[in-house]
Amino acid sequence: MALRNILIHPDPRLKKVAAPVAAVTDDLRRLADDMLETMYDAPGIGLAAPQIAVMSRMLVMDCSKEDDATPEPMVLINPEVVWTSEDRSVYEEGCLSIPEQYAEVERPTEVEVTWTDLDGQAKRERFDGLWATCVQHEIDHLDGKLFIDYLKPLKRQMITRKMQKLKREMARG
Ligand SMILES: [Zn+2]
Repeated sequence: MALRNILIHPDPRLKKVAAPVAAVTDDLRRLADDMLETMYDAPGIGLAAPQIAVMSRMLVMDCSKEDDATPEPMVLINPEVVWTSEDRSVYEEGCLSIPEQYAEVERPTEVEVTWTDLDGQAKRERFDGLWATCVQHEIDHLDGKLFIDYLKPLKRQMITRKMQKLKREMARG
């Protein structure tokens, strides 16, 4: 396993639509391991492949947040939202590609998602609470969409400028 570099916004790769995964291979399983390790190390509760510059429709997540909770790593390949509740909830969201910036985003409270797992099996599950927010946030990444795209332009620009500054500082070391 290896830690991967997480892309920081703004980056053109974070705005691209990722391609469907054609087959579940050993390479893909290794990629999933790397993504989970990178997510836990960050630490974060979700990571989509485009965030580590892999333009494939795959994401990992684990929203079992409490310290004493049993880890619940999930790997979703080619995930698709097939149903959303009419009820909507507001969560304060953050993103490993937009470090230390948080904002409230409104999304459907519950979603039903289909995907392929690492054994190549078709899965279907309903998510609520933090899991629902997380899975929608991560699937957005596969479509080149960030949580700041839901914010008013001024707020979005403010965050983007902060990230540009952060990237300049990181480049200088
Ligand atoms: Zn994110």
